[in-house]
Amino acid sequence: MIPARSFSGKKVALFGLGGSGLATGRALVEGGAEVLAWDDNPDSVAKAAAAGIVTGDLRAADWSGFASFVLSPGVPLTHPKPHWSVELARGAGVEVIGDIELFARERTRAAPGAPFIAITGTNGKSTTTALTAHILRSAGRDTQMGGNIGRAVMTLDPLRADRFYVVECSSYQIDLSPSINPTAGILLNLTPDHLDRHGTMQHYAEVKERLVSGSDLAIIGIDDIYCAQIADRLEKAGKPVVRISKRLALADGYYADGTNLMEAIDGRYSRIGFLEGIGSLRGQHNAQNALAAVAACLKVGLDLGEIQSGLDTFPGLVHRMEQVGRKGRVLFVNDSKATNADAAAPALSSFPRIYWIAGGLPKEGGIETLRSFFPRIARAYLIGEAAPAFSATLGEAVPYEISGTLDAAVEHAARDAAADETGEVVVLLSPACASFDQFKNFEVRGDAFRAAVQSIPDVTPIGGTR
Ligand code: ADP
Repeated sequence: MIPARSFSGKKVALFGLGGSGLATGRALVEGGAEVLAWDDNPDSVAKAAAAGIVTGDLRAADWSGFASFVLSPGVPLTHPKPHWSVELARGAGVEVIGDIELFARERTRAAPGAPFIAITGTNGKSTTTALTAHILRSAGRDTQMGGNIGRAVMTLDPLRADRFYVVECSSYQIDLSPSINPTAGILLNLTPDHLDRHGTMQHYAEVKERLVSGSDLAIIGIDDIYCAQIADRLEKAGKPVVRISKRLALADGYYADGTNLMEAIDGRYSRIGFLEGIGSLRGQHNAQNALAAVAACLKVGLDLGEIQSGLDTFPGLVHRMEQVGRKGRVLFVNDSKATNADAAAPALSSFPRIYWIAGGLPKEGGIETLRSFFPRIARAYLIGEAAPAFSATLGEAVPYEISGTLDAAVEHAARDAAADETGEVVVLLSPACASFDQFKNFEVRGDAFRAAVQSIPDVTPIGGTR
């Protein structure tokens, strides 16, 4: 745990006592703050009290005494409307902050030299965070990873100047961290998302921009217009910016040329790494993630040899284009995290011949936007409530069956793929749907797929269970 000593002796109000809220409360108490914590859910309040955190209804509190109000990132700050606790804090002129802010202040106070890589973007955050941490660890650096992935940031091991911190940040967390100041800040990409919480795309982009504008080095994927504008704006303001692109040959920055990772300086370019043969980093989207990780690792002092070794051995994240097994020329890939059509697109674009398992609880728009990938799909196996709608979209363009269940889909897809003689073929679960009609969540669905694949006779499991 990182004790939040910058709050020692101060009165702090805390709202939101889920997993990260509880961890934040403990870090504040451990750091010597006088905490008053509350939640709308009585069970969460009871848990906090049992953990030794003083609880009390913040509606009845004297707000004039609080130095800060620490809010859980899941609680509305601005949209659709501020939570009542935010209104009370604002009314009393008390700053509203979150756990990443606590971490940033503590690092500035206790170990300002500790390398801190912060990562955000609409897509690819977790992959880039895990990849960056893996590269650092494989190069022997003492590395802590957390934030919006894995452990809550204040539960990471205490700050030390030679300890590396790799922290995934959601837009909600950035919104609550006005002084976030990473050594390297990564903004991967921006597409409309979470607008229910941010109101407009402009506000969402402004929040994300804060992570890179506060960093010593801003690493920005410029393949969308929002990020390209942010890069230009920061550079004009004098901030060191590294541009990355998964598709454009840049004159300055890092870009992907197929599976080669390239560096360009004043129009002169050289190869600095490669992704050829790295199964966990297939696809253009992963080139964007890898380029960002490479740029950040260079900034914190790794050399290219160390970085390539880390890329080569990255095991990938479960449920995101996770290779789970192989039988002869048939590769089995679990992309259960793809819960809408946009998220399924990268996997469909990464393989040339696909036996595609899709369906579940449909999202608005269905799979219409995936039409350009239909020629790659040898056959589709439809499951769950979305099956009738998906079959209507596939129509004459793609042969399909309505398999109903995931187990039947795996069995039939494996059989058909084994009979395909066209080279490497992939049985891909990339459902483009939520899972709740048949599974508790996308993790359970992905685990069920992995188990079904690994129980097929003669399938060699890849990666084991992680
Ligand atoms: P996040 O943490 O931002 O949700 P993940 O790394 O968990 O992102 O990836 C989730 C899904 O998003 C992946 O299965 C993949 O389909 C897609 N994805 C990953 N990286 C990118 C990227 N750089 N650009 C677009 N889509 C991506």
